[in-house]
Amino acid sequence: MKYDYDFFVVGAGSGGVRASRIAASLGARVGVAEERYLGGTCVNVGCVPKKLFVYGSHFHEDFQDARGFGWTVEGASFDWPTLRDNKTKEIERLNGIYRNMLGNAGVDIVEGHAELTGPNTVKVGDREITAEHILLAPGGWPFVPEFPGSEHVITSNEVFYLEQFPKRALVVGGGYIAVEFAGILSGLGAETVQAYRGELFLRGFDEAVRLTLKEEMLKKGVDLRFNTNVASIDKKDDGSLDVTFEDGSTLNTDVVLYATGRRPKIDNLGLDKAGVEVNAKGAVVVDDHFRTSVPSIYAVGDVIDRVQLTPVALAEGMALAKYLFGNEPLNVDYDHIPSAVFSQPSIATVGLTEEQARERYADIDVYTSRFRHMKHTLSGRDEKTFMKLLVDKATDKVLGCHMVGADAGEIVQGLAVALKAGATKAIFDSTIGIHPTAAEEFVTMRTPD
Ligand SMILES: Cc1cc2nc3c(=O)[nH]c(=O)nc-3n(C[C@H](O)[C@H](O)[C@H](O)COP(=O)(O)OP(=O)(O)OC[C@H]3O[C@@H](n4cnc5c(N)ncnc54)[C@H](O)[C@@H]3O)c2cc1C
Repeated sequence: MKYDYDFFVVGAGSGGVRASRIAASLGARVGVAEERYLGGTCVNVGCVPKKLFVYGSHFHEDFQDARGFGWTVEGASFDWPTLRDNKTKEIERLNGIYRNMLGNAGVDIVEGHAELTGPNTVKVGDREITAEHILLAPGGWPFVPEFPGSEHVITSNEVFYLEQFPKRALVVGGGYIAVEFAGILSGLGAETVQAYRGELFLRGFDEAVRLTLKEEMLKKGVDLRFNTNVASIDKKDDGSLDVTFEDGSTLNTDVVLYATGRRPKIDNLGLDKAGVEVNAKGAVVVDDHFRTSVPSIYAVGDVIDRVQLTPVALAEGMALAKYLFGNEPLNVDYDHIPSAVFSQPSIATVGLTEEQARERYADIDVYTSRFRHMKHTLSGRDEKTFMKLLVDKATDKVLGCHMVGADAGEIVQGLAVALKAGATKAIFDSTIGIHPTAAEEFVTMRTPD
């Protein structure tokens, strides 16, 4: 045979594993190179451990809320090594599942760093592997700007494995990962400051959603500092960190977590040797068939910097494998991708923000609802749930749906189906609610703002 493999994949993360398995199930001879951990970012240092930490940190409020329901919870205390190590055991279990899944599908796992050496060749260690098609799915890596003392900060990679839980923490950044970790650290008991250089965090989300989250996080005691940026960090003899901000203010803290964005992981990937083009942000450039500038080399997932979410990488990997080995047309629909932020309270959204809807449509109706969740009538917690629907007046189509509140992701996933199916506001209105839930509010918003 001309090549060692029909399909060789670089990176056994979300996109790479899905593409490998599907390709093998369609009869291709498949190998996948992985240098770090099976399952990639999501399983090891992303979605999965993060969500476990969110569950862990929520108990703090759950214990407080329980009092109004007659429970006495005395002496509750938190043990970080238990959470950290139980989480790690679960991740190791998942690593094993991924290994079996790939093995059972007949995919060869090649452990080590892969580097392209030509259009059909990849070097892993001292092995030179040839393949008819190569897929790049190396994901991304946290980006920390250089400044005096930047060597003292950690990123999302390290926060999952901290030796000691900090008494005080500074989270720097305004994206969803920063917001989520501010909530996790604060919920687990660290005095938490979140600093962001912009006006308000979560750029790109609906403004009312951003403002609602800001209010709720402030109520929970997270110290939010916008329009501010770190100038330098000094490590003191006691191990604590002296942070100086650009405006001259200072903060003494135990951990500084930088969540200031991620970059495509293309170091030593041999892109130049094979002639694969990247854009100014270092993302691999692909056409609408995920083909790079080299016809035998494809790329999916975070490295192409379209939508950096696991379900999107999965969809891209699957579509490409079916296209290459199943003779199917390539079809990834990027419309109506729902997403959640596992902040506290959580956010979920699908479709357009109000700002986008106003730009694209002549006339829209905005429906909003802000209310106290039934649970908090007895818990006494002053937390508001917020919901918003955006409707095109001309066609009655629901253009966007946003929520801040408990279980937002669980609720909005179902609404994403409705929006994708083109549901109108009249269809929302004629849908019977499930009572008593918070979700029913989405089908009972009758009067536009
Ligand atoms: C803290 C955090 C939280 C997140 N939370 C969510 C969430 O809640 N929901 C969500 O949808 N998404 C979330 N994401 C994003 C999600 O993890 C990514 O979008 C997804 O993992 C991208 O998949 P991928 O296949 O492109 O890359 P990855 O999953 O990153 O996989 C890439 C793999 O390639 C390997 N690799 C890289 N280079 C080489 C090489 N040269 N040779 C061999 N192997 C290599 C890496 O070790 C890695 O295992 C989160 C990310 C982070 C960091």
